[in-house]
Amino acid sequence: MNLIFLGPPGAGKGTVAAELKKTSGLDHLSTGDMLREEMKNETELGKIAKEYIESGKLVPDDLIIDMVKNRLENADAGIMFDGFPRTVAQAEALDKIAHIDAVINLTTTIDVIIERIGGRRICRNCGKVYNVSWYHKDTCEDCGGELYTRADDTEETIRTRYDEYLKKTAPLIDYYRVKGIVHDIDANGDIQTKVDAISDIIKG
Ligand SMILES: [Zn+2]
Repeated sequence: MNLIFLGPPGAGKGTVAAELKKTSGLDHLSTGDMLREEMKNETELGKIAKEYIESGKLVPDDLIIDMVKNRLENADAGIMFDGFPRTVAQAEALDKIAHIDAVINLTTTIDVIIERIGGRRICRNCGKVYNVSWYHKDTCEDCGGELYTRADDTEETIRTRYDEYLKKTAPLIDYYRVKGIVHDIDANGDIQTKVDAISDIIKG
């Protein structure tokens, strides 16, 4: 059983995947983590990837696919892909080495993302994260530190990231939609509702 998670930044893909990992036994593969691990362990593929990254180049698809191939051989129950594929070319390459059973498309609206990310306030002193929707003071309740908004959490940058995501991912969603394996899940429900819905898809 192999799943792909799609959804804009702020839709909570990582949180849902982490919960499902506990109950489904599926491996959670985040491409960023995979690259970091391969480089840290100084595997042959990791060394090649490092050269690309250090010279400021993108790691080529072939290399990522080889890493994914290794992970697939060691994931008996299957994999939940998070952050990969990002393009139709990558999806086609992935189809050659793995059978994808389902694509979980976490849907939400720009307004919800702006509220979730744009409302985030972080304590300058201890790093505790608040949201203006439920916390109305300017200082941290734990340490009294000043609360601030991260520079890339402004409404404008959130809108830009969201538009880029939709533009880039739309062809990918269409690619899987014609195969009939896309499941749209409302990202705005509570975590247990989402986990239950996806568990039902995994069980078939
Ligand atoms: Zn604090």
